Amino acid sequence: MKKVLVVDDSQTVLTMLKVELGKHSNIEPFYASSYKEAVHLLREHKGEFHVALLDISLPDALDGEIVGLANSHHIPSVVLTGTIDEKVQNSILKKDVIDVILKNDPLSIEFAVREISRTLKNYDTTVLVVDDSKLYRQILRDSLEKIKLNVLEASDGKEALEILSNKENNISLVLTDYEMPKMNGLDLTFKIREEAKKDQLGIIVISSAEAQNVISKFLKFGANDFINKPFTHNEIITRVNSNLELLDLFGKIRDMANKDFLTGAYNRRHFFENGNSIYSKNKRKNTPLAVAMIDIDKFKNINDTYGHDIGDIAIKEVKNILDNNLRASDLMARFGGEEFCILLEDITLEDTKLLFEKIRENFEKNVIDADGTKISYTVSTGIYFGFSDSLEDMIRLSDEALYTAKESGRNRVEIKE
Ligand code: GH3
Ligand code: MG
Ligand code: MG
Ligand code: MG
Repeated sequence: MKKVLVVDDSQTVLTMLKVELGKHSNIEPFYASSYKEAVHLLREHKGEFHVALLDISLPDALDGEIVGLANSHHIPSVVLTGTIDEKVQNSILKKDVIDVILKNDPLSIEFAVREISRTLKNYDTTVLVVDDSKLYRQILRDSLEKIKLNVLEASDGKEALEILSNKENNISLVLTDYEMPKMNGLDLTFKIREEAKKDQLGIIVISSAEAQNVISKFLKFGANDFINKPFTHNEIITRVNSNLELLDLFGKIRDMANKDFLTGAYNRRHFFENGNSIYSKNKRKNTPLAVAMIDIDKFKNINDTYGHDIGDIAIKEVKNILDNNLRASDLMARFGGEEFCILLEDITLEDTKLLFEKIRENFEKNVIDADGTKISYTVSTGIYFGFSDSLEDMIRLSDEALYTAKESGRNRVEIKE
């Protein structure tokens, strides 16, 4: 949740805003109905607001002074206005203002709040601008930074692929030019689509008139959208924001299908879908894999003693501890009640032992404060290291190792090779 300053002197508008803002779980709103109240809030929450939603004329600040106030605290704003006065609008847009919205109907309130929510998400979103013209890259960067996106730049397709291959960059959207040296935008789009689908990484083509004939090719190759050159600042931010919203929506749908509701960990189905391709890849390379099965010891006791809700908290903790210890490339999923399975590649037998011994110790030392109730538990781990006929078979073998770990006293790691 991020803090948002909301200023409007109309109680009717504030009431509508409250309803809309309440629909977004990433927004923590603070309300003021005058310039003076806003000053107080800014003092009280110094440096904490990420964005502001501002009514341009307030009883104690009639001509948009509130926008300047937010600016002086380095807070960008979405501005609500009753009338569009070109001169006022132009002078306001020179400031750190994301958008100016005419508040003439309930839809505009909804729109303004969606824009606020999007801006908050943009703080954690990265886009890649690919263009051989330094000037165009700068123009795009200026627009994108105004809506608080993190911007990376590449001057041709090759450089873009390099930046994209670094997963740490976590890029959501690529804006690409068509004609560039080394690798053009079309080839770049083709290359990107070999790795990432349209619903995982967005591509917007920025094309000039001479590239009109290639637009259909771009779309066939998997570009999500295109923008004609020359473009306006408004066009860029509207298209970019709406594409990012769509990508988020796709992500939510993917999560619903692939993740477990209680813990947010991947489910069995996702594990097999991705695990099988990891299995085949490593089989080709003839490199060993590790499959680990982790199960809480005497978990029934926790449920029986403290109840099912506390039991749920204990299960969520397994996901947290595993997240803290595993690499991003390790595939972890909740297999059943209190049982998690992990598939690891590029790891030695020795490192596998060390890692899961460390994880075992983490659980042993950990005390969970579940709404005031202190609980702790241990886990048993069964690992199969090497290669067998299929991923399913490797899981079966790790399950056998888990059984041995339980039989030999629990709170231990058993490895089968
Ligand atoms: P062991 O050391 O042999 O693993 O003993 P255990 O008690 O952990 O083993 P068992 O597999 O028999 O018990 C698992 C329990 O987990 C039984 C089931 O009621 C409970 N369970 C399964 N799913 C959930 C869940 O989502 N939430 C909670 N709270 N409990 C669950
Ligand atoms: Mg060019
Ligand atoms: Mg158990
Ligand atoms: Mg179990």
